[in-house]
Amino acid sequence: MPTKERNIAMMGYRSVGKSSICIQFVEGQFVDSYDPTIENTFTKNERVKSQDYIVKLIDTAGQDEYSIFPVQYSMDYHGYVLVYSITSQKSFEVIKIIYEKLLDVMGKKYVPVVLVGNKTDLHQERTVSTEEGKKLAESWRAAFLETSAKQNESVGDIFHQLLILIENENGNPQEK
Ligand code: GDP
Ligand code: MG
Repeated sequence: MPTKERNIAMMGYRSVGKSSICIQFVEGQFVDSYDPTIENTFTKNERVKSQDYIVKLIDTAGQDEYSIFPVQYSMDYHGYVLVYSITSQKSFEVIKIIYEKLLDVMGKKYVPVVLVGNKTDLHQERTVSTEEGKKLAESWRAAFLETSAKQNESVGDIFHQLLILIENENGNPQEK
């Protein structure tokens, strides 16, 4: 099967770990102080269910509740990783607003999304429960994961699950 190109956008409030997730996924390391204003793209080859992919990640600089949804992120993207931090209720509220704006701009009722609650290693500072995250993802028909970019926990799963969601949306029957 020919290699498929998949464009994926990382979105979420500032400081939730979007860049750290990208860097952990692509380079296999945790960088503690990454310039929060940088908007970068990363490329990685992945193989899921005998299909080869070139994954192109756009690591956005982040959004807040007032951000106008950047129209360029609604075009030519196959799927979205929406990230909040389990230590920040604010980031959880903001991710709901980002999702609404995303659907609105796309003019769709469904887009392939993985909802990610990052920073599970900071469990003593947790303010968003696993249950809350799971419920929100269910209401979106999205996949849900809790991760730690720092400890490289479930980071690869984000992209595996999103590639499968995109595949299913494109009408290729594959078992989940
Ligand atoms: P972004 O603004 O969403 O891109 O967030 P960054 O990736 O720049 O991370 C913001 C801050 O959170 C940085 O100090 C990171 O080192 C830290 N951080 C990111 N992911 C994790 C994580 O999984 N655990 C912990 N403890 N800190 C993290
Ligand atoms: Mg960043």
